[in-house]
Amino acid sequence: MKRARRTKIVATLGPASDTPEMIAKLFHAGADVFRLNMSHLPREKLPEKVEIIRTIEREARRPIAILVDLQGPKLRVGAFAEGSAELVNGATFVLDSDPTPGDVDRVYLPHPEILAALEPNHAVLIDDGKLRLHVTEVSDGRAVTRVDVGGRISNRKGVSLPHTVLPVPAMTEKDRSDLEAGLNAGADWIAVSFVQRPEDVAEVKKVCAGRALVMAKIEKPQALTRLDEIIEISDGIMVARGDLGVEMPLEQVPGVQKRITRSARRLGKPVVVATQMLESMITAPVPTRAEVSDVATAVYEGADAVMLSAESAAGDFPIEAISTMSRIAEQVERDVLYWSILTAQRSEPDATVSDAIAAATHQIVEALNLRAVMAWTHSGSTVQRLARSRPNASIIALTPKRETARRLAIVWGTHPIVTKDASDVDDMAFRAAKFALREDFAVIGDRVIVVAGVPFGTPGATNMVRIAYVTREHAALV
Ligand code: PGA
Ligand code: MN
Repeated sequence: MKRARRTKIVATLGPASDTPEMIAKLFHAGADVFRLNMSHLPREKLPEKVEIIRTIEREARRPIAILVDLQGPKLRVGAFAEGSAELVNGATFVLDSDPTPGDVDRVYLPHPEILAALEPNHAVLIDDGKLRLHVTEVSDGRAVTRVDVGGRISNRKGVSLPHTVLPVPAMTEKDRSDLEAGLNAGADWIAVSFVQRPEDVAEVKKVCAGRALVMAKIEKPQALTRLDEIIEISDGIMVARGDLGVEMPLEQVPGVQKRITRSARRLGKPVVVATQMLESMITAPVPTRAEVSDVATAVYEGADAVMLSAESAAGDFPIEAISTMSRIAEQVERDVLYWSILTAQRSEPDATVSDAIAAATHQIVEALNLRAVMAWTHSGSTVQRLARSRPNASIIALTPKRETARRLAIVWGTHPIVTKDASDVDDMAFRAAKFALREDFAVIGDRVIVVAGVPFGTPGATNMVRIAYVTREHAALV
């Protein structure tokens, strides 16, 4: 089973995509990566979700990446007795330290240090800034606010306080427990929220110790001042537009998205564009024209992946959202302009063996107009460098390491396959051609490029490029 696009799709799981049947449907509709959002998912449910995804993976015989997203120091309101409440303009609404479910007059704010830090006239933005309140008076463990822009507030919606100075650590206690649970459950990627400094990522990487890769979510203006350092220390990057659009003026977000995407591509780190991509599909089976254009823009920019949040987690049309996203990416990738934009943005190879191999491979793909690069890999790092150059050929990663295959599921243009290591150069070429044929990346008579490291089984030793012919012999054993 292969996808007809290079751009990957990340789908967030939630109440709308809770059952094994539904998650399988999302996978077959096009989800390459599932995000488990620890802001909403109870920690004890993690192993069960991971097991559902691993079962789908086994049945489909396709590696799937699991991205465990740590909440970070994001503030949220508590729950409501009715699930939500409608706040009208001019009304009074109280944030307090009482865990009783809320109503139209009040709600629990489970952060005593924040209640202590709020002062009159501070803005309180709720649900990515959709609702706007301001503080009118504060007393012990309680802040009275006036509603400036009303709307529906529901369980555990996010709270942003642009005027309030908060001394918040990079990882909360909850994040530490969730991180441990995520690693134990077998997460492939860990996403770190509200990164401000490279040290925030370093701290998570230290705990992961290679057990999972670490993605930095760029959602605070502070992160932009040290963007390249953050990208360098991270294994992947997310343009987290939801909080970014609350923390900085909305009109600055598109430019920032381009800047982050380009820097991540230049440094060869997978980059995910996230949030509100098909927002109207939470309640409608078709998106707006503007949303289609937004997804297309991220694809044209050469993003590794585009992400669905509430659309797949809590919407009425999760499957339609994924298939719509998939069709948009496929269409953009058929456009000659897509390929000329990627070419124009291509970065020079670094002075390393794997970049030299990647550059040579790219040239061979173009000179011979080849469709498939078969790359034997252990760590996946050579495959990432191949993907960095965005060749107009599929990159088939052949690896004996299941965790490498899963991690690569988020990388642009990469089709990972788990297989036992090659025994010698002939076996390497023979099985590469066989997989190209079997997985439908070549037909008999085609040539494919084979990239590998000799001797085999030495991680980080990619040093060989070879051209292999796909023949009848390869079909015989399929
Ligand atoms: P979130 O992150 O959905 O966890 O808030 C993404 C974003 O802020 O855009
Ligand atoms: Mn966020």
